[in-house]
Amino acid sequence: MTSARYARHLLLPEVGAAGQRRLAASRVVVMGAGGLGAPVLSYLAAAGVGELTLVDDDTVDLTNLQRQVLFATDDIGRPKAEVAAERLAALNPDVRLSPRRERITEESVAGLVAGADLVVDGTDNFATRYLVNDACVLAGVPLVWASILRFDAQVAVWWAGHGPCYRCVFPRPPEAGQVPSCAEGGVLGALAGTVGAVQATEALKLLMDVGDPLVGRLLVHDALRQTWDAVPVRRDPGCAVCGDAPTIRAPRTEQVTCTVAVDDVPTVSAQEVSALLRDDAVRVVDVRGEAERSIAAIAGSEAVPLEAFRDGSAFALLADDERPLVLVCKSGGRSAEAVRLLLAGTGRAARSLDGGVLAWARDVDPAVPTY
Ligand SMILES: [Zn+2]
Repeated sequence: MTSARYARHLLLPEVGAAGQRRLAASRVVVMGAGGLGAPVLSYLAAAGVGELTLVDDDTVDLTNLQRQVLFATDDIGRPKAEVAAERLAALNPDVRLSPRRERITEESVAGLVAGADLVVDGTDNFATRYLVNDACVLAGVPLVWASILRFDAQVAVWWAGHGPCYRCVFPRPPEAGQVPSCAEGGVLGALAGTVGAVQATEALKLLMDVGDPLVGRLLVHDALRQTWDAVPVRRDPGCAVCGDAPTIRAPRTEQVTCTVAVDDVPTVSAQEVSALLRDDAVRVVDVRGEAERSIAAIAGSEAVPLEAFRDGSAFALLADDERPLVLVCKSGGRSAEAVRLLLAGTGRAARSLDGGVLAWARDVDPAVPTY
């Protein structure tokens, strides 16, 4: 450990040589090397955390580069864990890096968390968050968690024995289709930097045991209004994993996927819709908003946003036409919801374009951009 590298830390009475030694002796596991993982990993490596395990089974995609600042354009197609480890090794050769290119599953998560002083969750889906939470509760390890969507973020430290866990506050995942993923809803790139830096700060504080950790408080950030609120959150004695009579003895995932939601909805393939459109024998209605339609849309489709199906105003718009109806969104989740709402509201059957605009771009019109 070269002291010049950490000179600005050594000047801080709260850190000093003792704090820096604690960091060097620490092992942190970071789940996800994406938008949140990039700042988290960068600052933890720069700070001289002794060992960093980074877990990500994904490869770098062009759409990642708007916020995942560890990666460059030339990295597209390469494994994120591998590229991130290269960048971090160049940043600080003191750090022992363990890139793990693997999925976080019920089987793997306990092994990934074992031996960690602290875990940072930078993943972007509910199924993984529950898994990581359960593994951390069962191992007694603090979990620095965050979630970002559009201009909104939440951050907390979940730590059983010291405060609530994720399941205490969010006992069940939202219904499928209720909360869009970043891929559907979008996210401001810089928000990942803001929030990942807060996670890194909390991680360093916990490792050095300084300050008041974000335990028992849910930090809620609105970047549009530039507000931060700390909402008190409590342990739930009835929590399934950290409560007084826990029922979860091993990490358990909670399924929230679009495929669950679309199972019962009739679908139609992109090729079939293409043939029907040529004969003007179908009405194609896009349920996405204007922002998404401006990126990629099916020629000849019209726009009726999902909100209009939810409030019922879409039904009259669609009543004046006898042609069969096909509803479209990005990948098929929201159009399936619209099909269900239309049937419930009017009794009229429609079909959902299987795979959405992405399938259209793949199977019918490669000139349509994917996003
Ligand atoms: Zn709990």
